Amino acid sequence: MPTPVPDQIPIIDGHNDTLTKLRHMPADARRSFLERSEEGHIDLPRAREGGLAGGFFAIFTSSPSWAWVEKPLLDDNGAAVPSGWSVDLPPKLPRRSAQGFTLSVISDLMRLLEAARGEMAVVRTAAELQRCVEDGTFAVILHIEGAEAIDTRLETLDVLHAAGLRSIGPVWSRPNAFGHGVPFAFPHDPDTGPGLTAAGRRLVRRCNELGIMVDLSHLNAQGFWDVARISKAPLVATHSNAHALCPSPRNLTDAQLDVVALSGGVVGLNFAVAFLREDGAHDPETPLSAIARHARYIADHIGVRHLAFGSDFDGTMVPAELRDAAGLPKLLDALRAVGFSEEELHLIAYRNWIRVLRATWGA
Ligand SMILES: [Zn+2]
Repeated sequence: MPTPVPDQIPIIDGHNDTLTKLRHMPADARRSFLERSEEGHIDLPRAREGGLAGGFFAIFTSSPSWAWVEKPLLDDNGAAVPSGWSVDLPPKLPRRSAQGFTLSVISDLMRLLEAARGEMAVVRTAAELQRCVEDGTFAVILHIEGAEAIDTRLETLDVLHAAGLRSIGPVWSRPNAFGHGVPFAFPHDPDTGPGLTAAGRRLVRRCNELGIMVDLSHLNAQGFWDVARISKAPLVATHSNAHALCPSPRNLTDAQLDVVALSGGVVGLNFAVAFLREDGAHDPETPLSAIARHARYIADHIGVRHLAFGSDFDGTMVPAELRDAAGLPKLLDALRAVGFSEEELHLIAYRNWIRVLRATWGA
């Protein structure tokens, strides 16, 4: 049986791209999740070192031949916004390719669990998650970022739910059959276009029935408010920060933060430097105090019960000071430095997630 490291606060994390990232590595050069590596952000040994007890593992199907190319951001008059940038989004992705990729990653996960011999488990209930936190089994929550793999009759959703899926972001940033994501642009407002489609509204209702969490990160403002109107579950943005401190469209406005709190939901702090910094720059020399600043802002505005972690590990550039999952104790210290108590750190680290997932999934 795995032994929890004593005196460490266990951390449940709202978002990583580790499985997706590993799948994209050539099979003969792929690092093993079970062995310590210096590459990327999460593997089991580094998770154990940093107190990472588990988290949401995202499956994200990328668009073929799309590349991140920044161009100047133009205002309504066609003038360049000082230090602004934007990236063109790829077009809609065919369902077949998303379905194929999604099943491949789930298969990778099943084989990983087999090789992990009880050190890891896919959790389907809040009770299972709680048990993992207590006994040190590393907890995997299966998440899809962008629902392209799911047909609009939602038949695939039943199958994926049976396979363990417990969380869906209806959209990544490109548009799909369910809704529209925010653009990659800075600075920018999240109010960028139409909300959920009819299929998107059906998806939210069906997720409520099945006990699948709906993730608001990446949705544009109209889509966000549609989910807020429709969903009976607490509202959750798994990996987003405060728009007031960093005006990225991926971050939440004060009005959005307010409604997350009203619903009893939670915001997972994103460690991406571009979603932390006032200037939106991709600068690895961003201090951990930048994460603490967003934590303080969100806790002061809506309460510490609505704050959690959503690292974006293995999907983004995080502060060099943090480096990877093994650095999480340094982040807890940065939160202590801005006045969070030990009891509050336990809420942020895992208790808030467990509360919200219990309300969303059922026991
Ligand atoms: Zn994301």
